[in-house]
Amino acid sequence: MGQIPDSNEKDVNIAVEAAKKAFKNWSITSPEERFKVLNRIAELIEVHLPELALAETNDNGKPLWLSKKVDIPRASANFRFFATGIMHFATESHSMEDKAVNYTLRQPIGVVGCISPWNLPLYLFTWKIAPALAAGNCVIAKPSEVTPVTAFLLAKICREAGLPDGVLNIIHGTGTNTGEAIVKHPDIKAISFTGSTRAGERIASLAAPKFKKLSLELGGKNPNIIFADCDWEKMMKTTMQSSFSNQGEICLCGSRILIEETVYEKFKAEFIERTKALTVGDPLDENSKQGAIVSKVHFDKIMRCIDTAKQEGGKILCGGSAVQPEGRCANGYFIQPTVMEGLGPNCQTNTEEIFGPVVTLQSFKTEEEALQLANATQYGLAATIWTQDISKANRMAAKVESGIVWINCWLLRDLRTPFGGMKNSGVGREGGWEALRFFTEAKNVCIEL
Ligand code: NAD
Repeated sequence: MGQIPDSNEKDVNIAVEAAKKAFKNWSITSPEERFKVLNRIAELIEVHLPELALAETNDNGKPLWLSKKVDIPRASANFRFFATGIMHFATESHSMEDKAVNYTLRQPIGVVGCISPWNLPLYLFTWKIAPALAAGNCVIAKPSEVTPVTAFLLAKICREAGLPDGVLNIIHGTGTNTGEAIVKHPDIKAISFTGSTRAGERIASLAAPKFKKLSLELGGKNPNIIFADCDWEKMMKTTMQSSFSNQGEICLCGSRILIEETVYEKFKAEFIERTKALTVGDPLDENSKQGAIVSKVHFDKIMRCIDTAKQEGGKILCGGSAVQPEGRCANGYFIQPTVMEGLGPNCQTNTEEIFGPVVTLQSFKTEEEALQLANATQYGLAATIWTQDISKANRMAAKVESGIVWINCWLLRDLRTPFGGMKNSGVGREGGWEALRFFTEAKNVCIEL
């Protein structure tokens, strides 16, 4: 389709110089002025939706209907949300009765770095850029080298919206070259990263000695806990989505399905039937429920994980192979949605992220056992709980080790809520005030009365 530069340290330096220059004016613009430009970007993303959605699908392999329905509308929503949010952002004051009063200033940090992955390219790119800009920072942003096109198109939209030069610098290239040059740059004071735990670890090791502010949104191995007393039809429908949406390439997908023993066989039979009915094929075909895997490298990784699962004693209940659609996609990277059972909680398949259309089934007898299975990984991003017993749901939610818990739903997002993971799934939270606090420096001012 095209080529992008693998930008190096010198390119990053040029971007940082431009950002530093632009910061002088951007950091003192009023929230209203920033609102106007950012809201205009949101509107223009909507205007350009067809072009952006097609670019996202061509780049990533996800079905076009999904790009149109989810990815691009959410990118626009991200800008609109933080454009309006900054108009309502307030700071704290702490009174010491008749002795003194403290107030907190929240000032923009300066030049910040935003690095995002390939699975929800424009969606996650804008989720970082919008709050950073709204808070008055200038941004050096790097999309994934695997899916760079919508970020390039966004740059054009920002110009059209009147974002001043140097405020947002979109720079392309690989993680090891461009990404690390951003993380290491002494004048980039904060890094907001979404991607793999492996890259997050490397970034943390580079940024920590320089005392940079860090937000890390990393991998997941999320449990989907199903009790016998759930709303069955709703659970089945949503579990299909939480297992296989976006070819399973969503950090929030529930890849470990834990089912109460009394309904295990019933669930298994119905889930397999529904999974077999999913159409895998050309992402441009409205009937394709599943598109292509993002790249050859990732396709090979998922196929290796399926092999490992077999070696570990896993039984493939459906899927497990590549798919070769007819026509223009004949040589594409397609994988059948795959369901497995017979694997214990501590094997590689159930502890390491696969990030593809692959789920495992395990059964449990008690709440306690469900919790043990749910918490048996180093990850702690999201969990889903299905039950009509609200007390049980609340007990489980309090004890499950994850930053996000959905009860009787999945991926229902209110952009004001804290978003992020515990354990190896990350450090810090995005969303709402959390994001605006991350992208500002808090300064306490104390006045003696
Ligand atoms: P990745 O870590 O390979 O790459 C993510 C981004 O980081 C890319 O832009 C890449 O170029 C860059 N990068 C890689 N190594 C780097 C380094 N050493 N220094 C600086 N930058 C570097 O991840 P990916 O394969 O693009 O995305 C999939 C991963 O992202 C999965 O693990 C998934 O769970 C995770 N993810 C997490 C969330 C979340 O919110 N927690 C959301 C989406 C995806």
